[in-house]
Amino acid sequence: MISVNEAISLALKHAFILGTEKISFNESLGRILAEDINSDIDIPSFNKSAVDGYALRKEDINLPLTIVQTIQAGDITTVKLNPAECVKIMTGARLPYNADYVAKIEDTEIDPLTGKVHIRKVENKSNIRYQAEDIKKGERILSSGTLIRPQEVATLASVGRTTVQVFQKPTVIIASTGNELVEPHHTPTDYQIRNSNAYQLLAQCHRMNIYASYHGIIADNETITYHHLKEISQPYDVVILTGGVSMGDFDFVPQTIEKLGYKIVFKSIAVQPGKPTMMAQKDNKVIFGLPGNPVSSFIQFELVVKPFLYKLMGHTYRVSEILLPLAHDYRSKKTDRTRLVPIKIEDNKVVAVEYHGSAHLFALNEAEGIIRIEPNVTQIDAGTYVTVRLF
Ligand code: AMP
Ligand code: MG
Repeated sequence: MISVNEAISLALKHAFILGTEKISFNESLGRILAEDINSDIDIPSFNKSAVDGYALRKEDINLPLTIVQTIQAGDITTVKLNPAECVKIMTGARLPYNADYVAKIEDTEIDPLTGKVHIRKVENKSNIRYQAEDIKKGERILSSGTLIRPQEVATLASVGRTTVQVFQKPTVIIASTGNELVEPHHTPTDYQIRNSNAYQLLAQCHRMNIYASYHGIIADNETITYHHLKEISQPYDVVILTGGVSMGDFDFVPQTIEKLGYKIVFKSIAVQPGKPTMMAQKDNKVIFGLPGNPVSSFIQFELVVKPFLYKLMGHTYRVSEILLPLAHDYRSKKTDRTRLVPIKIEDNKVVAVEYHGSAHLFALNEAEGIIRIEPNVTQIDAGTYVTVRLF
């Protein structure tokens, strides 16, 4: 058995890079940039006002000022201020070229008799957004490998990149194994259960912007398993299976995968839940065999499969973690495996959710993340800070 960290690094080591494609920036949400993006202009591209107010020469700040013009965002400004002059200016409008201060409207007063502006409060900052203060023309603003979020879409828009090169997505297919499984629209008889894993995995892929295909349920029969895996492993980059990877008499997945000429990368991980998690590789194809228990399947996807799928798309996945104190004592028996405990956060403290083991799917509905308890640790006292990995 290998450790969780070893499993993750082995998975990443077996990632292969897919091709790239050009797409519209407007369809790039959730994709991974396959090129560096440089700005085609200075941003801001001119000195502009950051507030609504009066633009002036700082040396005139104590004088009553004559308003010579009103400048709106988008106006062409050619005015040059003479002593004791100012312009009324709106947020985003271009500054007169010799103005070096903008007084906020709320910090000024108009003399009702003369119509002149008096500055009542002077700030330390100029309220000017200077040309190129954010980014200079030609400067790199985004790097290859970046996951595109709404703010990156905005950045692409602002530097005029209406098309971008992104990494292709892997083709993924998901299948469940188990004679006991029926699809969700059926009512299970007293020896059957509904197939929840496949849909959980499809949704986990979907959340990463990967639209995986669904193959169906594969019976626990060696020949049948062989034929199904032969069929689906051909056209897809990644196959994700659940069930059939443990030590039972009818767990045929690992031996079948080997028969298909795949090399087993790992067969089990020293982790609880999710020990029977396997990965196999052949050329530029990978098969994951995840445990049948839904909590294990969920967690092993998050832990191992997700960083692998991101790596295929050229992105280094970073987990979201926070450090918070434990709300209560944690006690457990000594084990040789890393334990992953589903938790929720209450009053900024970590609370273990009610959890009956890896079959207890509904525990995940309440859970916001997991904490990781290393082998040999048998007690953690209330108040101890623990690292929470958020889902
Ligand atoms: P297995 O890994 O095949 O031994 O399955 C372990 C446990 O997970 C068994 O209790 C199965 O009934 C259950 N299980 C297997 N596959 C699924 C699935 N697709 N959805 C929900 N539960 C499953
Ligand atoms: Mg099974």
